[in-house]
Order: sequence, then structure tokens, then C-alpha cells
Amino acid sequence: MTLEVTGLTHRYGDELALEDVSFEVGAGEMVGLLGPSGCGKTTTVQTIAGHVNPTAGEIHLRGADITADPPERRDVGIVFQEPTLFPHMTVAENVAYGLRPAGVDPDERAAIVDSYLELVSLSEQREAMPAALSGGQKRRVELARALAPQPDVLLLDEPLSALDRGLRDRLREEIARIQRETNVTTLYVTHDQETAMALSDRLVVMSDGQVDGVGEPRELYESPPTPFVASFLGRSTRLPVTPPGNPGLTLESRALAGDGGTPADTGLICLARPNDLTLLDSERTETEHTLAGVVDRVTDLGTRYEVVLVLDAGGELVVETQRVQLEPGERARCTIDRTDLLLFEESSGRVGP
Ligand code: ATP
Repeated sequence: MTLEVTGLTHRYGDELALEDVSFEVGAGEMVGLLGPSGCGKTTTVQTIAGHVNPTAGEIHLRGADITADPPERRDVGIVFQEPTLFPHMTVAENVAYGLRPAGVDPDERAAIVDSYLELVSLSEQREAMPAALSGGQKRRVELARALAPQPDVLLLDEPLSALDRGLRDRLREEIARIQRETNVTTLYVTHDQETAMALSDRLVVMSDGQVDGVGEPRELYESPPTPFVASFLGRSTRLPVTPPGNPGLTLESRALAGDGGTPADTGLICLARPNDLTLLDSERTETEHTLAGVVDRVTDLGTRYEVVLVLDAGGELVVETQRVQLEPGERARCTIDRTDLLLFEESSGRVGP
């Protein structure tokens, strides 16, 4: 493993920002560190870069324990969320800056700078000052500056979140290409699940200072280990379930009232992807496995509709559908294929946003 983070714990005073965080990034791998604001992503990156001393835990880079090393002794490249180019230096000088501590001679330094400017398609802006660059170009200069010293690991802390959507999508492609071409071991931090899924070979999902799940994006999406991962990686909506002891899981809203149970009694959290739920034709007779309720609102999302039902059993259910003829206030039912249900023990953690 190139980067190994083991049992990382960090307190800011009384605030426990990281609790026993462990994950690995293999050579040449792009790992996405994904989680909501405040879950501890930046603190994790800052401990790897050496700007924050963890309360406990270890960081190994290419087998060496770097936990106590000062930042300049670590072979780590970093790009932050906010631009950090030196305004009084040209593009080339900014890129060369990172090479200085490495003691590279001037000719070699110029050649390295040129090759990294070419990599990020900015050769023509070599002598430009940062103020003359667009937001996307500045990000690319920072990427070149972080890569030029050929770090053992590249840390990207939300590098695209300050950009508008079109530019963000283009730069995301660009980062994927650059990572493939350089094969640099990369930890990509983001709160945006789409960016994380699109870029990452593997994902580390965090919530509340802890690691909630590690795996390939598709595997985590399809078999989320916790309710939080299910709801943060893609959308989910919660279904009421009957108390334990009943044969199978009965998605029949009356069962809740009939058996005197509430969702909390079952010890189970049952989630579904809104696009796995099917609205039933009102002509059809009621089957065992339906959830009935009243349409609260219908939103046209362009490529699909979102229908929110207030269930007879209590709670709201979100259904995504291609066509809809229902109006708010009308009764509706929906069903789901049992294999699409995501079931968790109540004790397995909180449901995410
Ligand atoms: P964001 O995406 O908003 O930057 P994050 O996932 O990167 O969030 P961190 O910035 O690592 O999360 O913060 C983790 C927790 O530690 C938060 O509760 C935050 O309020 C707290 N925290 C972060 N930095 C400090 C600090 N310097 N002093 C005190 N508390 C801090």
C-alpha cells in the first residue's frame, strides 16, 4: 500500500473530529474520500499533509511511518478548495516553486515545469500572471504545481467545489485523464457523491468523524453496509416494516396498525431507492405488498418526476417515475421488488441526509 491511515483520531479541544479512521490507498489508485460537510474530511487530509498532528493513530507512506514528520519532509502534493497561487509569480514560477526544496538544477527544473504545464494544457500561459487566468486555469496550475515534485501521494481537497457546474464537469474529466497519465496515487476529497462515483476506483465514505464504508463505488451503491451509506450514496426513502416474527417482510401499511407495531419496534431500518419503487395503477386490486397513501406533491425534474406520498402507515415516501398522472390529494399505492429492498439493523447506524 502506498498510503495507510490507521486508527486516526483527532480532537479539537472537546470536539472529536476523527474517531479511529482507517483506510488505505494503493499505488496508482484514485480513492474518493466522501462525506457531508463537517464529517472530518479536511482534518483527515491535514493530518496526512502534516498540518494537523493527530491525537492518536498512524500514517504510513510507502511503508514509512510519517506521523511525526514535518510537512516539508512528506512526499505529499496537495490542492485545496480555495486557490493558493502566488499572485506575484508567473505560472511557470508557481509550478517551479514546489521543486525548490528538492534541489533540482535550473535547466532540469525548467524542463520539468514545461512538461507539467503541457500535461495540464497550459504551455501558452507559461509567463502569464495568475490574475490573468480563468478559474479553471488556476486550478490546473495548482495541479501542475502539486504534481511537479512527483509526490508519493496527491491530496485533492474539494478542488472543484468553488467552480460552476459546466467547468466542474470539464475539470473532473481533466483530473481523471491526468491521474491516468501520471498514475499518481490520489486521495480525492469531496462531499459530492456524483464526483466521487465518477472519479474513484474505490470510495471511503465518512460520517461524524468515522468511516462508514469502504469499497468500489458500484458495490457500495448496490450493497451499502450502513443506512448512512445507502442514503448518502444515491437517494433513499424509508419504508415502514412489520414487527419481527411475521413471515417475511410485509410491506402492507395496515400491518403496522393491525399488529400494533411501529417501525421502531421491528429493530429494522428498511430503505429503498426512489427509482426502485413503482406506482401502481389505481385500477388494480390491492396486493399484500403495497404501500398506500395520499399524493402530497409531484415535482417535474425534467428527466423524471418525483412523487411524494404521505403513507397511511405514517411517514413520507419518495418515488421517482418517468410518467405520472396523479395529482396532489389523490390516493396512490406503490410497490417494490423485494430484492431491491435495503435492510439494516436499527443498531447499524443513523440514516443520512
Ligand atoms: P467541510 O467539507 O465543511 O470542510 P469536513 O468534512 O472537511 O467539512 P472538517 O473540516 O475536518 O470536516 O471538520 C470536522 C469537525 O471538526 C467539524 O465538526 C468542525 O467543526 C471541527 N473543526 C474543524 N477544524 C476545527 C478547528 N480548527 N477547531 C475546532 N474545530 C474544528
